[in-house]
Amino acid sequence: MTAAPTSLAALAALDDLLADAERLDAASPLAHVRDRFELPEGLVYLDGNSLGALPKAVPDAVADVVRRQWGSQLIASWNDEDWWGAQVRVGDQVGLLVGAAAGQTVVTDSTSVNLFKTVVGAARLRPGRRVVLIDPDSFPTDLYVTDAAARLADLDVRRVHPRDAVAAIAEVGDDLALASYSQVDYRTGEQWDLVSITEAAHAVGALACWDLCHSAGAMEVGLDEGGADLAVGCGYKYLNGGPGAPAFLYVAERHLADFDQPLSGWHGHARPFEMGGTFEPAPGITRGRVGTPPLVSLLALEAALTAFEGLTPAAVREQSLSVTALFISALDAAGVLGDDLTLATPREPERRGSQVSLRHPQAFAVVQALIARGVVGDFRESDIVRLGFAPLYVTHVDAVTAARHLVEVLDGREFERDEFTRRGAVT
Ligand SMILES: *Cc1c(COP(=O)(O)O)cnc(C)c1O
Repeated sequence: MTAAPTSLAALAALDDLLADAERLDAASPLAHVRDRFELPEGLVYLDGNSLGALPKAVPDAVADVVRRQWGSQLIASWNDEDWWGAQVRVGDQVGLLVGAAAGQTVVTDSTSVNLFKTVVGAARLRPGRRVVLIDPDSFPTDLYVTDAAARLADLDVRRVHPRDAVAAIAEVGDDLALASYSQVDYRTGEQWDLVSITEAAHAVGALACWDLCHSAGAMEVGLDEGGADLAVGCGYKYLNGGPGAPAFLYVAERHLADFDQPLSGWHGHARPFEMGGTFEPAPGITRGRVGTPPLVSLLALEAALTAFEGLTPAAVREQSLSVTALFISALDAAGVLGDDLTLATPREPERRGSQVSLRHPQAFAVVQALIARGVVGDFRESDIVRLGFAPLYVTHVDAVTAARHLVEVLDGREFERDEFTRRGAVT
């Protein structure tokens, strides 16, 4: 390597921060929570916002589901293991992490499918109103599904950035059915104010739906307290449910009796085993279900959620802010933020989620170079280096270690190497 040496002052500053990081980790109330996860030795895993790490409780739980519940008990497990009630049971566990009292959250389907239910369901809760507001920078599936649902339900989707949402909501007024926003931007990590957007929607008689894919399991959400009407979120990101884990759907208690979601399958029926020919929705959040759920994945998620035992969302959030703040301090101390490398994530704690995103003209190659050094983040079009700090298992030492590798990648201009600039089919 013909690298320009990182300045000695920068390295000394990072060494000091590493000592601080060790102290912070030792004093953290989450110090032993990392031990609840299987993580490859030496890896700094900053992609838990794409696929959460494996909680140690999961493999045995899955083996039990497969060998005993399926293999020995067979069909009896629907009753004996309460497979039938698992979606609502696990939903209540997710509810604890997002500030939802029991009976309003169900684990079911994917986030994409649940968004479809919320858009059509909201239109039916607010008949005669035609406008739906959504962030133009939303995760693409949110845009696609909202457009498709709107086409079927004859709604008018308007793409308005969340920073302008409150004003836009007032302007649309009584034609607004739904304001549908992500609490945390998947690309920049910016957090939007759930309470003010929800209140603005209520002030004109509309509903608010929140996509919690990048907040559930990483921070306080406070759905009930914030007055949210509807919410969706992922099981496989900060909830660590594993690849393809089912997602969740929240419907506030006050809307449940009238929530008429468009995918009326038999698992959402009031009396599914009557096998009647007419759909009648189950009372409560059970009506958010559709068909037979992927039970192995669902019960893997249930086991994964035990990694949160004894932790409040406030404690999780505190750890997240502490680790991300230390990472940003390390970049400041090393003097790497400037023309080529800039923060895409707000510095103010109340304005960021649990990730730090950086812009760099060679972001793709920077991410590849970091991965080669054992620091796994991801690239997001067009210039974002996205680093997720899952608070249950990313430590302060990880944060400083990641910063140091980033400094070395930049100083050594490793992002110019052919092996890191070539793009494969899957990024
Ligand atoms: C990850 C993510 C999704 C993923 O949706 P799936 O249906 O699980 O593929 C949707 N929306 C947002 C905001 C996400 O971050």
